[in-house]
Amino acid sequence: MTAPTPPPSAAQPAGPLAPGSTLGIFGAGQLGRMLAIEAHRLGYRCAIYTGEAVIPGEDPPAPSPAGQVAEVEVHGRFDDAEAVLAFCQQVDVVTFEFENVPASVGDGAARAGVVCRPPASALETAQHRGRERRFLVSHDIPVAPHAFVDDSTELNAALEVVGVPAILKTASFGYDGKGQARVERAEDAAAALASIGGGPAIAEAVVDFAYEASVIVARGADGTTATHGLIENRHHNHILDVSIAPAPSAASGTSVEADASALAVKIAEAMELVGVLGVEFFVMADGALVVNELAPRVHNSGHLSIEACVSNQFEQQVRAVVGLPLGDGRVVRAAAMANLLGEVWEAGEPAWERALAVPGVALHLYGKAEPRPGRKMGHLTAVAETPALAVDIVERARAELLGTPRSDSSPDGTPA
Ligand code: AMP
Repeated sequence: MTAPTPPPSAAQPAGPLAPGSTLGIFGAGQLGRMLAIEAHRLGYRCAIYTGEAVIPGEDPPAPSPAGQVAEVEVHGRFDDAEAVLAFCQQVDVVTFEFENVPASVGDGAARAGVVCRPPASALETAQHRGRERRFLVSHDIPVAPHAFVDDSTELNAALEVVGVPAILKTASFGYDGKGQARVERAEDAAAALASIGGGPAIAEAVVDFAYEASVIVARGADGTTATHGLIENRHHNHILDVSIAPAPSAASGTSVEADASALAVKIAEAMELVGVLGVEFFVMADGALVVNELAPRVHNSGHLSIEACVSNQFEQQVRAVVGLPLGDGRVVRAAAMANLLGEVWEAGEPAWERALAVPGVALHLYGKAEPRPGRKMGHLTAVAETPALAVDIVERARAELLGTPRSDSSPDGTPA
């Protein structure tokens, strides 16, 4: 943990909120669910604001992944200022579980006299790629060569800056590779831009990275920071597939982990963040770092911290938001996480008993009824003596779910 440098934000509560106080969480998915579970462990209550209103004349929606484990679930739109205000009036502090919650929820919190942590300004920065890039550049954080494309008239000039191949990304509401188009030849660029809505967008050079990684940094109300070190991330179809800590590709004796952690802390401080921030990196073969994306919230790649760390990312978020000191986020045992997407259900109910018979494996399911392709339904985490072994175990457990054990496994579940 680093030495405290108190953040200069406004309306701070006098001291930590006592257990029994209520966290108001905007967003109702799996991140909110795991956040609420940790909040309960620390003795707090949770109220969830789903972002979706009940349609008059229709049945109320089924309880959300987060609503299933919270004391209160409120259905309402994020842009319904009065409903947001009424929600904020019921809670003691406001936070959010995804970055596309409109920053205007911060106004609701201010009107209700409760603090919003992280500040709504962090949402504003992270939910627009153009603002995010400008913010990063203004703080000397390394990013990929890029140019802004407000509409198709700016496309050619942008491609001259970044070259081809290039990647076009919508400015808003892009995630997991959605709202992205790769441009192989300049003459295909107009069609590529049209395919992601025509702009505003950013054009980005294709980065020839060695691997992808992230740092999850927590920053407390007293300005203290803590990370879970460098987490390596492997994607499939642009969606996070496997995360590993400590990052096996970060060669020992190099400063990659320290450099990435220092950049994440610098960003959290520049955002005046109180809460948790996920920073995604491209790591080059020489260890140089490029920041790809910011998420001022708990992050999919940090799920393994539940098993790998004394204080996981969700606990850190709760501690920061209620004003308690941060916990120890260091990885104390190697771990690997594998996401379970809807595809795992394609052949029927997964073979849970086979996956859970693999030693060292933990299962997290998010309470989602409908397993659609690409939908994050849950995850598995394995702990082991080394990161490489943890990857092997978690991938074997996931294969067992499909009833197709990997050929390199022996029948008793130990690696061959
Ligand atoms: P994003 O939605 O920006 O996180 O992108 C999703 C994934 O697309 C990343 O995790 C990378 O695997 C890939 N990607 C995004 N931007 C670039 C880039 N500039 N160069 C190479 N790959 C990229």
